[in-house]
Amino acid sequence: MKKEEQKMNNIYQIKTSSNGRNVLIIKGFLSIDNIKELNAEDFDVIYVEDFNQSHYDLSYQLQHMSPFHSLKCHLKPCFLASTLKNRVLHLEPLIDGFATTWEDKDINKRVDEIYENLALIDTLDISEVKSNNYVYFIKLCKYAISRGNFTFTLSVEDAYAQGYTKLFVAKQNNFTFNMRDDFIRFNHVLVELGYAKQKKFIERIHVCPHCLSSRLFYMEACPKCDSSHLKEEPMLHHFRCANISPESSYAYDGELRCPKCHHFLRHIGVDYDRPSNVYTCLECSHTFIHTRMKVYCSSCKKTLRPSKLLAYDIYSYEFTPKGILALSSNEAVIAVSKDIWAGYSNFESFLSQIRLFSYSQEKEETIIIYRFKVEGNNANKDSIMQIVSDLHKRYHYNNLSYKGNYIFMAIKVPINIAKESWEHMKEDYEDILKIIDLKYAGIILTEQIYLSQEKEENSNAFIKRICNVNL
Ligand SMILES: [Zn+2]
Ligand SMILES: [Zn+2]
Ligand SMILES: [Zn+2]
Repeated sequence: MKKEEQKMNNIYQIKTSSNGRNVLIIKGFLSIDNIKELNAEDFDVIYVEDFNQSHYDLSYQLQHMSPFHSLKCHLKPCFLASTLKNRVLHLEPLIDGFATTWEDKDINKRVDEIYENLALIDTLDISEVKSNNYVYFIKLCKYAISRGNFTFTLSVEDAYAQGYTKLFVAKQNNFTFNMRDDFIRFNHVLVELGYAKQKKFIERIHVCPHCLSSRLFYMEACPKCDSSHLKEEPMLHHFRCANISPESSYAYDGELRCPKCHHFLRHIGVDYDRPSNVYTCLECSHTFIHTRMKVYCSSCKKTLRPSKLLAYDIYSYEFTPKGILALSSNEAVIAVSKDIWAGYSNFESFLSQIRLFSYSQEKEETIIIYRFKVEGNNANKDSIMQIVSDLHKRYHYNNLSYKGNYIFMAIKVPINIAKESWEHMKEDYEDILKIIDLKYAGIILTEQIYLSQEKEENSNAFIKRICNVNL
């Protein structure tokens, strides 16, 4: 135990700066959330020293002190030793600055600014809502606002976002496809809600229609077999006999001799010229003058024609005063979650959306959930997913999820028509039973139950009731 403590002390230290902030000084790899003796209240600022860590080690450290994911470091200012500057690479947007020592005066000034901004921002309980993409984006917005970053672009492309929202770009590199979609949708929601507005046109780019990525490769290909294994060479035109063929067909013992009339070619412009280049496909031997372009999307690995690409206009945006207020308070969470309610989500997100609902102050709406079990000889993961997909098509306005053999459907309804909605849901369920009966042999639905949040019931208790079966 004693030894362990000593070891820890070599890895980190907490010292108080001249403006009275506690600085956590990191001197070796530290997984902050996992150190029991280290509490969130113990430090206000993080400073990472240069202990010869590689780029890889440094980015691993930064993940463990993420302003979004780490419970103890949530939104806290973070600085690195100046000598680490060329090792942070694309993660620089997540860092508040560099300094030669933790006592640097510039750090103090910046830390005070950040804390002034943070004082105006309601933070989310990140342990509760971490699994929802939109909440994550709202956390990004809160972070941006706390750093005084009010402009951003909706760009899905790295280069054009440079100078605008490096923060979002840094995070986007790790986005999965469905997250990227959600991110674009989220940005549009911000605009629709009046939280952000267009500032200026940046550029029109082209993106993959399948995954919206702009990481595209353009390649010249054979118009016959689409291979890019091509040889390009000049075409030679022999004036005397009017022969036109690739230069290689004239090669004769180190000289040029016409393959048709066998005369030697001496002077360009007098005997012959090179009117254009010609391509030969090394896969199918086809020769041609114009190549056909193909585009390879390095994100989703599809190959397509340039004409199939989607034009995408990039604008820069800025948060409006209304948006800054809404994003600083938790009003934005409620507004955005209203918009993203419907559709299928994995079970964790499903529960997270229900928790989010509890952030709502004036409850004019209530949630009704119905849960049922899929049983029978043919009940397995595939058939359950098929049923969920069928239900999703039919009840796309509901929120839908499943876990184990249980399917969950949730609707949000205005409180004053909750009773009627309840009756509606019963009819819906009769329909579902019929569909299953017609389409799925060897499957029956059982244990059907309706659940809704009781008055005064907190979200954890409600979620407990939702999950009180063998999932
Ligand atoms: Zn070919
Ligand atoms: Zn000739
Ligand atoms: Zn793609």
